[in-house]
Amino acid sequence: MVSRLKVNFNKSHVYGIGGECNVVREWSIPLGCEPPSLPFTYLGVPVGENMNQKSAWKPIIDKSKAKLLIWKSKTLSSGGQISLAKAVLGNLPTYYLSLFAAPIGVIHELEKIQRQFIWRGTENKSSIHWVSWEKITAPKQVGGMGLGSLRTLNLALLSKWLWKLKVDLSHLWACIITDLHKPGNNFNYCYAKKSLNGVWSNIVKSLTAMEKLGLSTREVMNLTNSNNSWILDFTENGDLSVALLRTRLDWATHPIPDGEFTWSNVVPKKVSCFVRRAKQNRITSLVALNKRGVPVNSITCGACQTNEETTNHLFIGCMMAKEVWSKVEQWCGVPYVIHDCTTVSEVLARDRKGRQWPKEKKIMDAIKYRTIWCLCQARNEWVFRDFRSQPAKIMDNIKSVLFTWIKHIINKRVLD
Ligand SMILES: [Zn+2]
Repeated sequence: MVSRLKVNFNKSHVYGIGGECNVVREWSIPLGCEPPSLPFTYLGVPVGENMNQKSAWKPIIDKSKAKLLIWKSKTLSSGGQISLAKAVLGNLPTYYLSLFAAPIGVIHELEKIQRQFIWRGTENKSSIHWVSWEKITAPKQVGGMGLGSLRTLNLALLSKWLWKLKVDLSHLWACIITDLHKPGNNFNYCYAKKSLNGVWSNIVKSLTAMEKLGLSTREVMNLTNSNNSWILDFTENGDLSVALLRTRLDWATHPIPDGEFTWSNVVPKKVSCFVRRAKQNRITSLVALNKRGVPVNSITCGACQTNEETTNHLFIGCMMAKEVWSKVEQWCGVPYVIHDCTTVSEVLARDRKGRQWPKEKKIMDAIKYRTIWCLCQARNEWVFRDFRSQPAKIMDNIKSVLFTWIKHIINKRVLD
């Protein structure tokens, strides 16, 4: 009244808790409200809907598909695709996933949309998958690309409710849950009455699901000595962190695929993604294309005309690459460090002898990533534009952008 706002009765509903339907309906008539009906949506959350059914998740699935139509994934780099899939498609269902346990069919459907976006863009054509879905979803700590699975996100979000209930019983919702499910004295672990199926019972089941994924309940929710609260084994202060728990779950479900990979935070993500693919031999070299049935005229390297164009030949073995690497070594003042490497993995792992400062390692990584990126650019120029860059020119190209990447961590004098 004071703010001069009026209730729009045409858009309002009257609901009663524990009351007769007829009585509630009678009340709605003098107010001019719509008669109540189940299910309905309150603050974006469906109430009275059976969320174990796939049909209840249709709005979220449709929304995810619709979001994709406005993006042209083919115009994005692989790093951009992952970021967008994570930001838009990974976060869109978060609101639902933080309260409801999604049926496996729904998780598969949502991940299928992510896969289509990353692998094929929005078109329905089939295409070559250069990186497996396993590696895209695996955490960065185990060499993956860190997209994360929606199933683990769902479990980590649900466990937050169990944690909150244990840590603070004063909330109204916590009182309702304990009153309904009556865990009694045996309140060490979460409990749901078997006769009461619904949201809470699904949340409690998430602990069992986590155990199936290889994470024991004791590791997730370890009782402290006082028995009043829990402690998470793998966070610094023992508090629950949904992001860390999710990564831990992703970790448990993904075996280490290709060893570790350093995700440099000074180079653009698209470059890191590319170098990682090169390390795993997942780039579109002539040999790789030929192996996957793509018609190519010849698989011989265009630069030296002697060897087959494999990933390791392109970036390490080719005389063009060798010349560029030797210039890089001279420029960095670390001669004969990379000269005998034969694979991208070896080059990435090789450092100068003796103690190396973390900053120095970061700069060295940025230089290696930039060199691989520029060698690829040079190769594309002679394949698609028939233009041959000289090693000295490639070296200038490496230096030109490198400074903007590492200027935040290095004094300009050192670079000159
Ligand atoms: Zn060659």
